[in-house]
Amino acid sequence: MRSLTILQRGEPVLAQMAAPVDNVNQITIQQLITDLKTTVSAAKGVGIAAPQVGVSLRLFLMCSAPSERYPDAPLLPLTVVINPEILDTSNQQELGWEGCLSVKGKRALVPRYSSIDVSYIDETGAKHQQTLTGFIARIFQHELDHLDGITFIERLDNESDAINEQQWQKITQ
Ligand SMILES: [Zn+2]
Repeated sequence: MRSLTILQRGEPVLAQMAAPVDNVNQITIQQLITDLKTTVSAAKGVGIAAPQVGVSLRLFLMCSAPSERYPDAPLLPLTVVINPEILDTSNQQELGWEGCLSVKGKRALVPRYSSIDVSYIDETGAKHQQTLTGFIARIFQHELDHLDGITFIERLDNESDAINEQQWQKITQ
């Protein structure tokens, strides 16, 4: 069990387009998934993307559960998402609070599609196609952005729309 170092915004790898994974059975990929599970759980995150630990591949984990960082998060068993695609989106976007393990201490209201149809493969190579809504759709869009070199800060009209964690706690609690 290894917890990896989470890179912070400003690292070049977080602004790069990540490459597709061509073989999920590779030992290096399986080891990366194991390490990401340890890392995201230690950091109490609801998701983590490979570029956040310096690996520029199209792979992320989602693991939503109510926590100190996200009190209203729904329960989602740990899901490994490889080579994801968004096939369709709702017309509507909605604003919701986001933070990011690579943007420490900041929160912002970020617009995301409220519903998305997605496809991806999991850690066994099995294909999935499903419709995601609400907070899970939000995590998926946030993590997919990391694979395209985008953090939630770039989704804001103005970088100063992000507030610090203490202010956020006052507003939301
Ligand atoms: Zn993030």
